[in-house]
Amino acid sequence: MAKKILVPVDISEMELTQQVIPHVEAYARQEDATIHFLAVIPDYTYFASYGLGYSSVVPDIKGRETVAMESLGDIVAKFSLPGRRVEKHVLSGTPKDHILQLADDIDADVIILASHRPSMSTYLLGSNAAAVVRHAKCSVLVVR
Ligand code: ADP
Repeated sequence: MAKKILVPVDISEMELTQQVIPHVEAYARQEDATIHFLAVIPDYTYFASYGLGYSSVVPDIKGRETVAMESLGDIVAKFSLPGRRVEKHVLSGTPKDHILQLADDIDADVIILASHRPSMSTYLLGSNAAAVVRHAKCSVLVVR
């Protein structure tokens, strides 16, 4: 059974996270399962193309990661999970790439994610969810 569970979280979309909570809790009931939460701050690489004159508008990555880690902590607190089996990760870059990479790094058994934002109801799968389903080497639970 799934021992290492990866839960990617879009910290700006609480509604999406709400959907996955019962599923994550059910998986986590197994003894010694570890739950890894990951929030990715999308990286605005296009800022770089404005050149040095605009370097002051380049977001402070470390500062943003600290704030994101606090938000992720607040979100994780809504799950009822044993704290010692929870790990939190915040990375900057492309969500789908980091989700797939972290799944490999921790040797995840399952990735649990919501399919898409409610406002994007015309799509069956959002772009990150679709890429994860297509490329992950482990099982993926898409919550609808
Ligand atoms: P949409 O395009 O409708 O936003 P996504 O595919 O981006 O749909 O979102 C589906 C799921 O992908 C989310 O529930 C979340 O699990 C994951 N995800 C999306 N963005 C991020 C992010 N920035 N960090 C971590 N996970 C994310």
